[in-house]
Amino acid sequence: LGARLNGALSQFSKASSVDDAAIDALLKELCSALLESDVNVKLVSQLRARVKAKVKKSLEDAEKAGGREANKKNVVQKAVYDELVALVDPGTEPYKPVKGKVNVIMAVGIQGAGKTTTCTKLAVHYQRRGLRSCLVCADTFRAGAFDQLKQNATKAKIPFYGSYTETDPVAIAALGVEKFRKERFDVIIVDTSGRHKQESELFEEMVAIGAAVKPDMTVMVLDASIGQAAEGQSRAFKDSSDFGAIIVTKLDGHAKGGGAISAVAATKTPIIFLGTGEHLNDLEKFAPQPFVSKLLGMGDIQGLMEHMQDMAMANPDRQKDLAKKLEQGKFSIRDWREQLSNIMSMGSLSKIASMIPGMPAGMMEGGEDEAAGKLKRMIFITDAMRQDELDSDGLIFFSFDKEGNPVGLNRRARRVAKGSGTSVREVEELLAQARMMAGMARQAGGQNGWMTAMNKMQ
Ligand code: GDP
Ligand code: MG
Repeated sequence: LGARLNGALSQFSKASSVDDAAIDALLKELCSALLESDVNVKLVSQLRARVKAKVKKSLEDAEKAGGREANKKNVVQKAVYDELVALVDPGTEPYKPVKGKVNVIMAVGIQGAGKTTTCTKLAVHYQRRGLRSCLVCADTFRAGAFDQLKQNATKAKIPFYGSYTETDPVAIAALGVEKFRKERFDVIIVDTSGRHKQESELFEEMVAIGAAVKPDMTVMVLDASIGQAAEGQSRAFKDSSDFGAIIVTKLDGHAKGGGAISAVAATKTPIIFLGTGEHLNDLEKFAPQPFVSKLLGMGDIQGLMEHMQDMAMANPDRQKDLAKKLEQGKFSIRDWREQLSNIMSMGSLSKIASMIPGMPAGMMEGGEDEAAGKLKRMIFITDAMRQDELDSDGLIFFSFDKEGNPVGLNRRARRVAKGSGTSVREVEELLAQARMMAGMARQAGGQNGWMTAMNKMQ
């Protein structure tokens, strides 16, 4: 999906004039990409109409003010971006667990959606962010459900509660939550059972467990591979056991994830995470703007910073200096180079790569090799730099006018492009990335320390 959307937009930005035909061609390609990934037809035609109306109005306004071609392009691109964001943004804020109180989260969804896996991933996620987390298994329906949760929890070193003998899920849920409440856990996650279908007993069970544990947030776990059926399924759950957040799983497969977007629109409920694999780390935070931004190849700096923080926690020695620099608001090209090589050594390149602005979109689909190739080229660029250039913030590569505004890249940049076998455009991209990171660092540094700032972002 990302590759096609990005392709359509870059095709459009190359068009010599922005006439109705160019806009129509862009919209046609956008819509067919969305439909192919299973976004509901009604939503797609709505999006099309809204973009058209927005563009028309903006162009009329611009014309009155004597607008130029480039502005028209921006108008269209912005309208597309805004409408894509609106598609995944229900306009309601999800619940966020806070330290200092007991936060109960209950997972609902049909069997096989990925609830048990996702509950453990969530516990790991919150635990990493300093919230003491635990798991309660209230699935007495599926044989071996408790063993599965036990195994997951043990692997992740997360305390858990469950029973082999008690058959009443409501009783187990109540006992487990009560026990962990007394122990003042920050986050208690209750895993429930599913059935093959949405059956009335299942919904009754959800309501009863809900009444017993009084969750602060109920999360509906939705398997992306069910496509368009996501809408009906989520409506059925919403009607019986109201949920406040959605987690979409199995987005790593060849799933047509667009169906889940229809669920957001149908239930006006925000997606909070995406499951992107079977491993406990395969959980990505979801927010409308970064998601669309990544989809269109514009990157997600905040997500990248968070990822760097995770890496810092996994490898404190290597990252200590970096944290200090960020805290002081310093970030050089050398630091960015170090991050790039860390990313290279971390695996799961394609996921991380899409967070870097200027990386071609569709990397998620393009796979590891493409991401690795692109990252390597970026490192080659830094290899061709001199020591003083690496230690700079990157401004050294620009020429300036009399007022001190950068007017373009200078001879150093051309030398680096040549020396690394890349293009000046790629050097510019790398400099832009380093500059954005530095910008984030300064912001975070000003807020009483990088780590503190990062912790606030959860
Ligand atoms: P539950 O019945 O809702 O509790 O679902 P489970 O957690 O038992 O998951 C069902 C299957 O889906 C398991 O084999 C999981 O490993 C797998 N699964 C869960 N989440 C993901 C995901 O994000 N990606 C992939 N590829 N598999 C997943
Ligand atoms: Mg389960």
